[in-house]
Amino acid sequence: MTEKQFTPGAILCPSCKARTFLQDQPWKRVCVSCYLQRNPSKRRTPEPVPVVASACPVPPDMLRRLIQLCHPDRHANSEAATTATRYLLALRKESRA
Ligand SMILES: [Zn+2]
Repeated sequence: MTEKQFTPGAILCPSCKARTFLQDQPWKRVCVSCYLQRNPSKRRTPEPVPVVASACPVPPDMLRRLIQLCHPDRHANSEAATTATRYLLALRKESRA
C-alpha cells in the first residue's frame, strides 16, 4: 500500500496561499474562492428580482377602476382604503413614467 491516507483538516490553499479551507474530501484541493474562479459556471447566481414597479402588471383602465373602488370617500375614509388608494395612485404614476 503506497497510497497516502487522507486525513481531513484545515489546509492552506496552494493556489492563492492566502486562505485556509477545510479539506474534508481528497478532491478538494483549493479554497472555494479559487475553485469558483476556475469554474465560474459552478457559481450560484441569485435569481433575478422581477421589477414590478417599472412594469405595471395592471392595465390602466383596470387601475382606474380599482382606484375608484378603493377611494377613501367610498369607505368612510378608512385607513385601509387610504393606504390602498395611495398604493394604486403610486402604481399609476409609476406606469405612466
Ligand atoms: Zn485559494
